[in-house]
Amino acid sequence: MKRRNFIKNSAAGTAGIISAPLLASCEDKKNTAKESAATTSVKPIVIATWDVENATAKAWEVLNKGGSALDAVEQGVMMEEADVNNQSVGKGGRPDRDGNVTLDACIMDKDSNCGAVVYLQNITHAVSVARKVMEDTPHVMLAGKGAEQFAYEKGFQKENLLTEKSKQEWLEWAKTSKYEPIINIENHDTIGMLTIDSNGDMAGACTTSGMAYKIGGRIGDSPIIGAGLFVDNEVGGATATGVGEEVVRTVGSFLIVELMRQGKSPQEACEEGVRRILAKNKNKPDFQIGFIAMNKKGETGAYCIHPGFSYRVFSELGHTNTPSNSHIKA
Ligand code: ASP
Repeated sequence: MKRRNFIKNSAAGTAGIISAPLLASCEDKKNTAKESAATTSVKPIVIATWDVENATAKAWEVLNKGGSALDAVEQGVMMEEADVNNQSVGKGGRPDRDGNVTLDACIMDKDSNCGAVVYLQNITHAVSVARKVMEDTPHVMLAGKGAEQFAYEKGFQKENLLTEKSKQEWLEWAKTSKYEPIINIENHDTIGMLTIDSNGDMAGACTTSGMAYKIGGRIGDSPIIGAGLFVDNEVGGATATGVGEEVVRTVGSFLIVELMRQGKSPQEACEEGVRRILAKNKNKPDFQIGFIAMNKKGETGAYCIHPGFSYRVFSELGHTNTPSNSHIKA
């Protein structure tokens, strides 16, 4: 498994960042919003789950040219959706147990607008369909055939998402699997991304082909706002990867943002998010969960669990502010 490094990539120059008080209590939320809008020294930054250098580089390119946080997350994660070597996202993703590649994605902007698609087939850029749901419909989420039909109406092209490689691996799996999905293997590497643009505004996106060889129709956390992704432009954002069922039942990303709102750092909030999940899984075999988070100051945090296996969390592009490796055992 190539993607064991749980990486956050951030842009050069995030060390200085903003001075406005940004972790607000409910009472001073309004003032804080005004102050942060007035902040001029914000430095763009992007963080993403896993070692997705092309995706973070693309998002950074958008931000560096003065593009919006929203454009940056969309274009950033699209890189992974189009990359057939990433078998957890978009085209080339591993199929469900019946051999169908089904995609889940969501996106959220600075004004808490959000869009999502679930069980989307035959379209590579699920995140862009999710953005269209957000911007062009009164809805938040479209599923299955309806989502696919909507995508065609919006000009998306039909594509076969099942590559030969993923097909052959699935056929191998099917020989011995007894048709039973296994939840703990490292066959899922959703990309979640959070950005801050030069206006100090935040956005997030999350996109996945979900758990490999899942039961047809299974949806994880990734397209569910609050679970796989949550952004509150007054506070910060969080996104998840790993066993979606666990993230959904703790509303993980929302929890982490709320913990940041209460004053926890992104790192503390991610650790607490993982701890909550562990506390509910004392007797379960090992499984994998990772969260990343970023607050409005551009401070970042990441925490993962995979008992018996550690994930690295680090920054690149010259950052010295490197969080230590962290993993905890159930
Ligand atoms: N969270 C995703 C899901 O449960 C899988 C992953 O992160 O790779 O569908």
